[in-house]
Amino acid sequence: MGGGGPGPLDLKRAETEARACTLCAPCLPLGPRPILQVGTRARLLITSQAPGTKAHLSGIPFRDASGIRLRDWLELDEEVFYDPERVAILPTGFCYPGRLPRGGDAPPRPECAPLWHPRLLPLMPEIRCRLLVGSYAQRLVLGPGSLAERVRRHEDFLPHYFPLPHPSWRTLTWAAKNPWFEAEVIPRLRQVVREILAG
Ligand code: SF4
Repeated sequence: MGGGGPGPLDLKRAETEARACTLCAPCLPLGPRPILQVGTRARLLITSQAPGTKAHLSGIPFRDASGIRLRDWLELDEEVFYDPERVAILPTGFCYPGRLPRGGDAPPRPECAPLWHPRLLPLMPEIRCRLLVGSYAQRLVLGPGSLAERVRRHEDFLPHYFPLPHPSWRTLTWAAKNPWFEAEVIPRLRQVVREILAG
């Protein structure tokens, strides 16, 4: 990157500020603990929903069964997945948002992405493709729409975006009902990821 553009120090500063954010602290049952992974040379960006309790406790995104499934879909080992100079992770909400009264995690805090994504994204100029993992990420970037339809029509969103379901255990049932996902989408996803990280 040439002289006047943003550099690693700008990203480091923005990351430090994001990690210290307390904007919606009163709404967070476990308190703020922003989870993100950023690097100036990252080429692949994963935008998911919000951290679960395991990520909140460890401070590490996708260190759970969903992460194992996601890495399998991407055909990436932990060394590459957790290398911020190759893979960046910006959830739709950086902090664990708590539970809904009827069960399941609450939606990502709506304050988060509008505040932090526009600040961090321009500081990662090497990003070539953004994986939109789950309905919250897809709604954030693409607006309202059918998750399954977007995943099926993934080719329409390339090279900038790749819509995916969230890799939770619920997706196993969804994938069984939609065999095209494993047969067509996963091989294409692996090819895209391989090409982005290689060249
Ligand atoms: S969810 Fe986002 S906006 Fe809210 S405290 Fe965490 S980092 Fe800040």
